[in-house]
Amino acid sequence: MPRPPVPELVRRARAGDRGAVAKLISTVEAGGPAALEAAAALYPHTGRAYTIGVTGAPGAGKSTLVDALIGCIRASGDEVGVLAVDPTSPFSGGAILGDRVRMQDHALDPGVSIRSMATRGHLGGLALATPQAVRVLDAAGKRWVLVETVGVGQVEVEVAGAADTTVVVVNPGWGDGVQANKAGLMEIADVFVVNKADRAGLDETVRDLNLMLDLSGERAWRPPIVPTVAVRGEGIPELWAAITDHRAHLEATGELERRRLERLRREVRTIVTARLAEQAETVCSGERFERLVGAVAARTRDPYAAADELLAELGAGAGACCGPGPSDPAADPGLASPR
Ligand code: GDP
Repeated sequence: MPRPPVPELVRRARAGDRGAVAKLISTVEAGGPAALEAAAALYPHTGRAYTIGVTGAPGAGKSTLVDALIGCIRASGDEVGVLAVDPTSPFSGGAILGDRVRMQDHALDPGVSIRSMATRGHLGGLALATPQAVRVLDAAGKRWVLVETVGVGQVEVEVAGAADTTVVVVNPGWGDGVQANKAGLMEIADVFVVNKADRAGLDETVRDLNLMLDLSGERAWRPPIVPTVAVRGEGIPELWAAITDHRAHLEATGELERRRLERLRREVRTIVTARLAEQAETVCSGERFERLVGAVAARTRDPYAAADELLAELGAGAGACCGPGPSDPAADPGLASPR
């Protein structure tokens, strides 16, 4: 499909053209040279958006909550972007009609951009595509970006946790709090929502969550637990207050900057790893690779010697793409190593 050149799309997206925003998001999602060009063109215009991750099991009420949060943000006059990294989300097309109609209220509002993201098999996958898509919305002037993900699976949890404020949504009953703990959601939660508080089991779930928070030790910020009935808008002002309180805490303590730096550290590391993996794929296929494997089978080389030969080749290639770049000498060694 022919599309305008990337610089043109970036210019239009920054001017608020929602079609250009959509095209740029699919460009960064698809990967390849156009995605890299878009990333470079967008980056200088980013850094102002505040991201909120909303995660939880399918059906927990994430989309309903996101919809309500859009309302809170729009009431403040700010623009908002939504990324649904969730195949089951109504935002990404799996909706029942009633939900679709509800979303369309926002779809008509030029201050709201809603885009869905699919998991594609390109370099670094979701973990790299999501921050790029967030940057498109950031460059387009969205001061808030909501990222909705299903809190199932390591990558999804990682993506959800890569927000400034992460909201973990559970429901009353069924040991949901315990499940959240198992899925690794306890570590990434800045705010807990017990949605569907109109159902039985609210007190038990709040108690479970509190118990788990007690056991997880002292922390500078103890995630508040907010009961909501998202379908009726109950608890939404309290949820918005919890999110803005958390933001104020991060800003006041310098933690926001630290978190963002840590995310960049992780992102750059992921890019390097993904590129090395891609190069490893290349050297571990084809005639030369097969010859070496044949030599290993014939016992004329051991597997490590064969790997070393391939790695020598990879080292030469890696220097071209992942070696020291212009910004490297300026890197602070004190920031470089800790995980
Ligand atoms: P998601 O899959 O996590 O995005 O969940 P949805 O937002 O799509 O909600 C799943 C279903 O639960 C929908 O039918 C909602 O209308 C319903 N739902 C959402 N919030 C509540 C709530 O607070 N109480 C009740 N009873 N149902 C809710």
